[in-house]
Amino acid sequence: MNSPLDPPREIAELRNALEAVRKSEEQFRTMLDDIPTLVWRTTADGSAEFFNERWFEYTGLAPDVAYGSGWMAAFHPDDLESLSKKWTEIVASRKASEVEARFRRHDGQYRWHLMRSVPQFDESGRLVSWCGTNTDIEDRKEAEERLSQAFDRIKKSEEELRTIIDTIPALAWSSPEDGIGDFFSKRWLSYTGLSHEQASGTGWVSAIHPDDLEGLAASWTRIRASGREGSLEARLRRYDGAYRWFLFQAAPLRNPEGKDVVWYGTNTDIEDLKQAESELRRREADLRKAQAELAHVTRTTTMGELVASIAHEVNQPVGAMTLNANSCVRWLSQLKDESPELQEARKALQRIVQDGIRTGKIITRIRALVEKAESVREPLDINSIFHEVIALSKNEMEQRQVLLRLDLAVDLPPVLGDRVQLQQVMINLILNGIEAMTAVDGAARELVIGTQLDRGNVLASVRDTGVGFDADKAEQLFTAFHTSKRGGLGMGLSISRSIIDDHGGKLWATLNDGVGATFHFSLPVPSDR
Ligand code: ADP
Repeated sequence: MNSPLDPPREIAELRNALEAVRKSEEQFRTMLDDIPTLVWRTTADGSAEFFNERWFEYTGLAPDVAYGSGWMAAFHPDDLESLSKKWTEIVASRKASEVEARFRRHDGQYRWHLMRSVPQFDESGRLVSWCGTNTDIEDRKEAEERLSQAFDRIKKSEEELRTIIDTIPALAWSSPEDGIGDFFSKRWLSYTGLSHEQASGTGWVSAIHPDDLEGLAASWTRIRASGREGSLEARLRRYDGAYRWFLFQAAPLRNPEGKDVVWYGTNTDIEDLKQAESELRRREADLRKAQAELAHVTRTTTMGELVASIAHEVNQPVGAMTLNANSCVRWLSQLKDESPELQEARKALQRIVQDGIRTGKIITRIRALVEKAESVREPLDINSIFHEVIALSKNEMEQRQVLLRLDLAVDLPPVLGDRVQLQQVMINLILNGIEAMTAVDGAARELVIGTQLDRGNVLASVRDTGVGFDADKAEQLFTAFHTSKRGGLGMGLSISRSIIDDHGGKLWATLNDGVGATFHFSLPVPSDR
């Protein structure tokens, strides 16, 4: 039974229920105050009506200041404008959203906070309030800031690096392991005139000289296979189409795992170096040629000296021989015996005397030539000198089956000259003609010797049906030591020309219409004739 003083049971139950609600509300509030974040609630139009304890602790604001719109004073002045704008938008949107701003701590320090807000509606769907949290994101912001600064620094140093790459006086590039280009410095692109798109991949190959492509491909493959620094040379086309020699140098860079390799390279212009090199090689070749010529001249000069001393040595015995033969002729002529044998012996001795005198003269002239003595000038009939020379070379012509034709002008005026020297010229031309024809197998060999008078000059020619010579090399035949014959000296025509020059005339060669060549010389007829 209940005592009449006892409250009715319903009241007691109500009190208990209220007590339970108060307890759970207290627990809830304690929980709100304890969670490590700032919690708040506003009315539907954004006026603050609740903050948890941590909020007050953090801001240091008194409740009567904070409620309503007083809380706004805790935000950084610089963020206030954008924040109140954003908050108005959020309230109008009636949607959950978040915003970042600097929020002042009780000690005056501003720290970045992330504010999340969620709208609350009643059963009829009416917006009744906003709940929200402020989370301290200062440390995250700081980390973000540091990251972005680091990023800026990397970007800056990348830009500096790129400036360096574009400024160094070489063309720079890089390529992944497969050897396909993926980076080209500004200089590379402006040298070749290719765009980055044109050069990328295998496009850069179009700037390599076609003749160097194969070698470059082989070397580039070899360098990549070696995995080590290497170089090669090739010609690279400039924007204007000119090719210049470049030194390509490449070095590999492995990633930290030692797997993927990127090749970095430079191309350095070595055109001037190359040209200097080839100029040097050309000069070396010239030098070697000059050395060889010098050696030849030295040998020939020595031979000239040898000839001079032989001529000197031979002259005396030949003189003595001629003298003795002459004495014999005289002694024999005093004999009365007229037997045919004796007559033949006398004739033979007379021929010995004549040949001896001729030999003596030749030796004297040879010595004059090599010792550069003054040559003799006497009136000479060119036709009769040709006859003398032909007599001397008759044997040679017969042996080599050469047909001789003479086309000599009659009544040729005499010229002033040195008989032996002119004989030497004629012999040289005739023997050269015979040799040129002997070099042709099976063809008819015909030597035509002609003379004529032409405007105050005696013109002589020796025409053969031999091998001839290269049309553009006619003048070379007359240079000293030029010879096409094994064992030839190449001095004959050069000496002949200097003899004819010495006589005030000219010596030259022409190619025949058909086969063979003709050598001509002209000698002036003295003006008193
Ligand atoms: P060598 O007879 O010792 O070679 P030469 O000075 O007499 O010297 O001749 C020089 C070169 O000129 C010869 O080696 C030959 O190649 C060329 N030559 C001379 N005469 C003739 C000719 N009649 N026909 C073709 N080539 C000739």
